[in-house]
Amino acid sequence: MSLIVQKYGGTSVGSTERIKNVARRVIATQAEGHSVIAVVSAMAGVTDNLLKLASEVSSNPTKREMDVLLATGEQTTIALLAMAIDELGGNAVSLTGAQAGIATDGDHTKARIKNISPKEVHRLLDDGNIVIIAGFQGQAPDGRISTLGRGGSDLSAIAMASAVGADRCQILTDVDGVYTCDPRVVPNARKIDEISYDEMLEMASSGSKVMQSRSVEFAKKFGVLFEVCSSLNTNPGTVVMEEKPHMEAVVIRGVSLERNQAKVRVGNVPDQPGFASRIFRAIADAGIIIDMIVQNTSEDGVTDISFTLNSNELAQAKEVLEQAVGDFAEGTRVTLEEGVARVSAVGIGMRSHSGVAADMCTSLADSNINIKMISTSEIKTAVIVDEADVEEAARVVHDGFGLGDKPILAES
Ligand code: ADP
Ligand code: ASP
Ligand code: MG
Repeated sequence: MSLIVQKYGGTSVGSTERIKNVARRVIATQAEGHSVIAVVSAMAGVTDNLLKLASEVSSNPTKREMDVLLATGEQTTIALLAMAIDELGGNAVSLTGAQAGIATDGDHTKARIKNISPKEVHRLLDDGNIVIIAGFQGQAPDGRISTLGRGGSDLSAIAMASAVGADRCQILTDVDGVYTCDPRVVPNARKIDEISYDEMLEMASSGSKVMQSRSVEFAKKFGVLFEVCSSLNTNPGTVVMEEKPHMEAVVIRGVSLERNQAKVRVGNVPDQPGFASRIFRAIADAGIIIDMIVQNTSEDGVTDISFTLNSNELAQAKEVLEQAVGDFAEGTRVTLEEGVARVSAVGIGMRSHSGVAADMCTSLADSNINIKMISTSEIKTAVIVDEADVEEAARVVHDGFGLGDKPILAES
């Protein structure tokens, strides 16, 4: 008998009809002779609505109480799913994250899993139950409820699969797998059969929200092979796994896009040791995450430094930067640009293939899309464009690399 962890996301449990569908699926999986753990998200829209409610009563709610609130979304789903399974004649027990033994640190709203003690989970499975676990939540060291960051049920499922030594981990969602780009933006995107952890991680962290990036990081670290597939059909999905030699043959595995980016430029910075450090120290001390950084060659002893960040951190970045550069020099100033977005092409085949940036720029130029910044790393090439152009940019880059048709091979 094998042990399967299945994670059902928000849309897959988005109505009572969908919850009944999940109930039928987990019962069918158990009937095939497997032990089943189902990790579930809040019903679609519930977490967003809870965030809205919090904003209506408080301008600055404590993170600790935010977690108490947000965790209720998943708690509703576990109870409804257990009832639906019971109604169909199955045996199910629902567990909160704490009851399932998920211990985290105390960093509320983005807690990290410290360890999982799945004793109760095993006991319930041994008694023939389907075990239903609330995703996205755990227990902080002081016993309080914690949550794992948006999309965190993916992490709950992968970490639980690792802790119980599951034979399979399936992430069931509202698309058939991981596509070469978000199929809602690029209609001719194709489902990817196999993808390496590194590619999935780059795609997730550059905007392909089909997987939470922290969950992919965890899977890579602990070698948890998982499959992303649909909760609405039984088509084969995408297997996310350790890199295999043949995977390098494809130059670009996929394209991601991320909206809501902003660009910050610090102009007229003295071109001397210590000034860049003061800029980025101020940003880091404020806990702001930045992405692309570009420093121009200096002219007349001054240079300028630009970087991008998420636009919801822009106001705070402006405040800390203006303070930090206050005494730099006459004329040092901070300028901000909102309304930009990023398009990234990802693939481990890039390591052995040159010309990716050139091809990407050509596709964009042919569509008259202006590039504001470019960055490259070993397996990713990314550009910043106007937000108004981002969908078109994703489509032309996707088509330029032949992803809608068949992938371009590194040898060619
Ligand atoms: P769940 O509620 O199951 O966790 P999510 O909404 O978090 O589902 O993720 C699924 C969605 O991710 C899809 O509906 C799709 O629009 C989006 N998505 C973005 N990029 C991709 C991609 N490369 N492949 C598949 N889906 C993607
Ligand atoms: N309900 C949480 C969210 O919307 C966690 C999840 O769905 O994975 O972010
Ligand atoms: Mg998700």
